Amino acid sequence: MAIFPIRVYPDPVLRTPAAPVARIDGDIRRLVDDMFETMYRAPGVGLAAPQIGVALQVVIFDIGDGPHHLINPVLLETSGSWTFDEGCLSVPGRYWPVRRPGFARARGLNLAGKEIEYAGEELLGRVLQHEIDHIGGILLLERLPRRARKQALKEIREEEMLRGEGR
Ligand code: ZN
Repeated sequence: MAIFPIRVYPDPVLRTPAAPVARIDGDIRRLVDDMFETMYRAPGVGLAAPQIGVALQVVIFDIGDGPHHLINPVLLETSGSWTFDEGCLSVPGRYWPVRRPGFARARGLNLAGKEIEYAGEELLGRVLQHEIDHIGGILLLERLPRRARKQALKEIREEEMLRGEGR
């Protein structure tokens, strides 16, 4: 297993829709293992393959009840509304109140190639939506209201400039 550096905004891989996994083989099993190791080390509650630079449809999460993974995940259903202070390992150290549906149901494959489904409210619903967004090349910044997004992008740019000057 290996720990990978987590790609951060504005890395273009984060904006690229990921390709479906065609065959679940040893490479995919290794990818999932590496993603878990990387996520736990970060630490985070969810990770999508593009965040370690692999543009494949693989997501993992652990919201406190153990490790879960989904290959080629699709969001089947969402409902309700819930505002939650959401962060992302690819936009490190920042949290914004993001309103999303409170409930989500998603389906994908596990490493055995079997179809599995997750459904839940609150943190589970949130992590499913957030990670499946990554698969589509969507960052939580795009889920912010327009004014908050502009402000966030400005802050990130300013921070980058400061870091650049410090080098
Ligand atoms: Zn994220």
